[in-house]
Amino acid sequence: MSVTQQQVLDCLAKVMSPRGVALTNANVLSAVSVSDGKVFFSINVDATEARAWESVRAQAEASVRAIPGVTTAMIALTAERKAGPGAAPAPHRHAPGVPPVSSHRPPQGAPSPMARQAEIPGVAAVIAVASGKGGVGKSTTALNLALGLRDLGLRVGLLDADIYGPSVPRLTGIREKPQLNDQKKMIPLQRFGLAIMSIGFLVEEDTAMIWRGPMVMSAITQMLRDVVWGTLDVLVVDMPPGTGDAQLTLAQNVPLKGAIIISTPQDLSLIDARRGLAMFKKVNVPVLGIVENMSYFQCPHCGTRSDIFGHGGARHEAERLAVPFLGEIPLHMSIRVTSDSGTPVVESDPDGPHAQIYRAIGAKVWDQLKGVIAAA
Ligand code: ADP
Repeated sequence: MSVTQQQVLDCLAKVMSPRGVALTNANVLSAVSVSDGKVFFSINVDATEARAWESVRAQAEASVRAIPGVTTAMIALTAERKAGPGAAPAPHRHAPGVPPVSSHRPPQGAPSPMARQAEIPGVAAVIAVASGKGGVGKSTTALNLALGLRDLGLRVGLLDADIYGPSVPRLTGIREKPQLNDQKKMIPLQRFGLAIMSIGFLVEEDTAMIWRGPMVMSAITQMLRDVVWGTLDVLVVDMPPGTGDAQLTLAQNVPLKGAIIISTPQDLSLIDARRGLAMFKKVNVPVLGIVENMSYFQCPHCGTRSDIFGHGGARHEAERLAVPFLGEIPLHMSIRVTSDSGTPVVESDPDGPHAQIYRAIGAKVWDQLKGVIAAA
């Protein structure tokens, strides 16, 4: 028997707010999403009351999980500071169980906001793979880069935070769901020697998910912090494409040691990439470099190279903006075919030219990260 939204609401009507009001009457619930036994929603409260609400969140999660037929319950507490004199302009959210951080911007010369974000225990560096728009090969690059870093002998994880269009299940061929450990934390799936987590493991590919702004951050924070990542040298986060509010909040709230921007050589993509760069600069996340994907066309039959979109735009842009240029990846049939069949090219053709390109990019990224980790 499938779980209905009404069943979830009936259950939440029995959970009381810190002031003794039923959750369903407390005006704090986001839309409740119920799909195939998986329940997602957030409880949105004022930041000053967040601590008092944490036990309510836990209670709500436990009672929803107890509904027969519920397989996953992901309930996040999002805390916003009310607008008013002295309040910060942007809302602040925090992960369940993690104390809210001050939403005041640091004065000029103050330490980076990163310093205030709790690190992920056991994870030496979290890095973002971002793009100014969708379809430029961000996810394909994120996965192959993660494999390139693995080939350097590093312990690597991949978090698919592209919650609007999670593609990691397709790129890795993973069909299983993550299990929970005794502490009710999700155990990431293991594939190709990587620890992998994606919202796509929890919802069906064709399930339309409607994410309200605060829920985006909550879901990602939960996937970041309520997952037993173990000991990792690098956790690669495949960001949602674009440079809107959701991406900015993410860049601000995830303890990033650096970001990589994927662009194609076309002018339009480069303009978007520039926006991405500006976004990370705004939140003091170092940009480790730009990758030009679909840089040139390589004929799968004769190997001849054609610069269909022009070529070298991203390298030029990187020089102009004084950020490292990490490499060029050709537009090649084998990259598309292997990605879309769940056997990424670094894994399926480890000695081929494309795997070498991704490994070289990985090496450039790791060279910089080593310094950042040591400095931290
Ligand atoms: P994004 O994450 O930016 O939306 P994807 O990684 O999902 O993009 O890639 C979009 C499509 O382009 C996929 O079908 C993928 O296989 C293909 N693709 C990505 N990079 C390349 C490449 N270098 N050569 C050929 N196809 C590619």
